[in-house]
Amino acid sequence: MKKLFAVLLVTAVLAGLAACTPSLKPGNASLKPFKAGTWIVVEDGGDDAKTYTFTDSMTECSYCSGLACMPFDYEISGSSYIFHMGSADDNSVVNAVFDGDEDCTLTWEDSGRVETIQYVGDKEPEKEVNIYMVLVNKQNKLPDNWENMIELATGTNSVGENYLVEKKALEAFEKLRAALLEEGIDIELDSTYRTVEYQQKIWDEFEDEKGLDYARQYVAVPGFSEHHTGLAIDVMLIKDGEVIDDNDDMIAEKEIFAKVHARLAEFGFILRYPEGKDEITGYSYEPWHFRYIDSPEIAKEIMDSGITLEEYLGKQ
Ligand SMILES: [Zn+2]
Repeated sequence: MKKLFAVLLVTAVLAGLAACTPSLKPGNASLKPFKAGTWIVVEDGGDDAKTYTFTDSMTECSYCSGLACMPFDYEISGSSYIFHMGSADDNSVVNAVFDGDEDCTLTWEDSGRVETIQYVGDKEPEKEVNIYMVLVNKQNKLPDNWENMIELATGTNSVGENYLVEKKALEAFEKLRAALLEEGIDIELDSTYRTVEYQQKIWDEFEDEKGLDYARQYVAVPGFSEHHTGLAIDVMLIKDGEVIDDNDDMIAEKEIFAKVHARLAEFGFILRYPEGKDEITGYSYEPWHFRYIDSPEIAKEIMDSGITLEEYLGKQ
């Protein structure tokens, strides 16, 4: 409580300074807070719409890249801004140079990244969001309102069980499956779309039975599972009439999965959790978990270079 009060006090003083003092420090007359409202990053060609939204109080600002948003606060310190990206611990020093009131260049001291941003006020920036490139992982939550952005369709596996999958992803999966059947390989839907509520139910059950630590280690946090997107498909194999759906048994089917993975990209899928990329994806090797990204060209680029979606998007 004391800490919160201190933070609030500091914020209030800074906000006061920003509002009342034209020059925060001698020699820093040009250092002014960002205008409240939305600023768009202009040099990226609008492909992956990035925006900063600043508030008058310098708190509860947000940075959005594509569909993922990260909250941050900032403060003015000497001749720099300090952005607390995502949490109070991340003190990224940013040098901002205003070129007029509505254009600004941000230089991130740690990475050297330079961004030109432009004020668009309260107008909703025009952004064309590609839902198929959404990043949902242990750091990136499912975007709000996701259910209204996708269309789900029902697929049936040969065991007669029904599964919800995003419509285009399901169509592509059926083509992938047919192509593999011609090679004598039978992949079947095993786990697909999962609602946040359902994931919460699983989490609560584990927490009740085994405790919070156990749930944290073994259960995806509700809202942070790629299965919420409808674009992730876990398959099982049918080999010589036998169902193979145990994780270890599937990992042992190296030859079959090598052939399956070789066909993913042409139908717009990637292997989402490749071997040896645990540190980046947050998951161990899962030869059965495919992710639909819609573009066979991008899928090929990702699969051929052996990178992850995180690496392709340049995000954590
Ligand atoms: Zn999965």
